Amino acid sequence: MELIERFFLGLTALASVPLVAPVAAPARCEESPVRVSAYARPFEPPRRPALIPLPPGAVEPAGWLRDWCLAARDGYTGHMDAVHEEFRRAWAADHTMRGERLNWFRGAWPYEGGGYWFDGLARLGSILRDDGLIAQVRRRFEVVASRVHPGGILFLWWLDKDSPEDSQAITCDGGWPIWACGLLGRAMAAYYAASGERRILETLETAYSSDRNWIRLPGGMSNVWPAFQTYTWTGNKRIAEALSEVFSKEASAAIAPNPWGRYRRMPDARPGAETNEHGVAFLEATTPWALGYLWTGDEEFLKAPLAWHDLVEREAMQPHGVIVADEFWGPTGAFRGTETCDVAGYLWSQIVLLSVSGQGRLADRAERAFFNAGPATVSRDFQTHVYFQSPNRVADNSPPCPHGPGASGCSYKPTHMPLCCTAALNRIVPNYVMHMWMATYDNGLAAALYGPCKVSALVGDRVPVDIVCATDYPFGEAIEMNVRPARKAAFPVLLRIPGWCAHPEVRVNGAPVSAGADERGFVRLDRLWKSGDVIRLRLPMSVRVAGGRDRGWRAVRLRLLRSSSLRPADPRSGRPEHARPLGQVDIRPGCAGGEARCRHRC
Ligand SMILES: [Zn+2]
Repeated sequence: MELIERFFLGLTALASVPLVAPVAAPARCEESPVRVSAYARPFEPPRRPALIPLPPGAVEPAGWLRDWCLAARDGYTGHMDAVHEEFRRAWAADHTMRGERLNWFRGAWPYEGGGYWFDGLARLGSILRDDGLIAQVRRRFEVVASRVHPGGILFLWWLDKDSPEDSQAITCDGGWPIWACGLLGRAMAAYYAASGERRILETLETAYSSDRNWIRLPGGMSNVWPAFQTYTWTGNKRIAEALSEVFSKEASAAIAPNPWGRYRRMPDARPGAETNEHGVAFLEATTPWALGYLWTGDEEFLKAPLAWHDLVEREAMQPHGVIVADEFWGPTGAFRGTETCDVAGYLWSQIVLLSVSGQGRLADRAERAFFNAGPATVSRDFQTHVYFQSPNRVADNSPPCPHGPGASGCSYKPTHMPLCCTAALNRIVPNYVMHMWMATYDNGLAAALYGPCKVSALVGDRVPVDIVCATDYPFGEAIEMNVRPARKAAFPVLLRIPGWCAHPEVRVNGAPVSAGADERGFVRLDRLWKSGDVIRLRLPMSVRVAGGRDRGWRAVRLRLLRSSSLRPADPRSGRPEHARPLGQVDIRPGCAGGEARCRHRC
């Protein structure tokens, strides 16, 4: 445990470096519609993402994953108005904050809470094709859709963009109200992708085309992704101008360096050279820069966020698959915590970066987070949750996490104050499910994240296909995919081979095929598929030992955290305690009093 102390102390060496903005070419948006894939957007910038997310609902969960979705529906996601009155205020017609009350702690918080919740609600409703969930989110969106207008500020319809008072008020707390707008925009974009409801797209277009001052505020970062999506559906020139400004050299001086502008450049990879950041701000501010690569073709926009995420992978990754974030990221520590907002945010980040880059290692990270940290956020019935999770949590209210609700944040409760995590946890399950399969630009499908599911999509020459994945992965190693095209069709199926798997096996209709992955980590199966074809994938798991910055050791078997450096739970058998993948991992410290001697610092 002394070693743990030394590594925590090493954090104090963190230092800042000057901002260096990379060169960004102006966008060269195509004026004419582009239709290559069935899932290509009508308007796309010069670079296309490696993998195209399918609309929510194209992937249906099965088995344990469906059970989990239903629990979310019957627990938090379908009933947030009953969880706390703040959710009834979220984007409600009579909850219109002005002036100082646009600070999150003076009445504006429901804009954030609603954005997080609606994001999960819209996606889960579409995934489950649940009329009740869909009606609920439509009702909430309609309040905004019926009021948003070009004179407002993004989705804050009651504000006047020409009012100096309103323009000043939205800069509070680093542009927090603008950041909260991006969460609503993200939810609406997901819902439009699933529903095609014109009214929702018009709402997005009005919000993002009426005024582009939002891009100059630190809080503007969360709006980049939904504004980008809105452009690809509409080709709106004013939105294009705003995005070009975000991704232009000239804008670097106008965008606040922290927390947004900082991440458009490569990090200093030397240990301790970069200052840390609030976890949510880090995830929200790094990820959108990857869209700059699509917009301009400049690879630096993609390399930078990938490098930042590689940095926290080395420095701050916890054994349960998410970065230390209690609430700032920092070196891995046996008693460091991770805020639930960061579980949702980390998963979203890896999926966006996976889509843009096509790098399977990002899907490895997404799976690791989803299978370990994801279940630990919430009880099995989705009625209680933690604010912080920590791998070596040994008792209720332990460890004494800083920030947020403090030590009580480690306990399972119906709500925690602030309510951010109660809202954000709704995003985790549907975001994973809808991205298990993605489309390719050559009209194929890529298996990106594994688990029991069925994908229904168009392939080849717009041939409908179902692929049913029968598996209990990650509890087992075998995945059987039954391919059912409506008629014989030639199209590629890409299978992700996890980077941790040394000896994968792939068979098609019983015959072995090469399981050698390409440089991005995918095996490509090109053939004329017919109904009844079966792909069998086996991903043998092995135990490896990984070291953390605190020199604690953890044994990781595939995606499930198994044990730590510490004393076996069962002294009779000497076997380490097995993971509880649907609950908080609770590992016993190997030395008496170790917990009390640890240091917790950012
Ligand atoms: Zn939170």
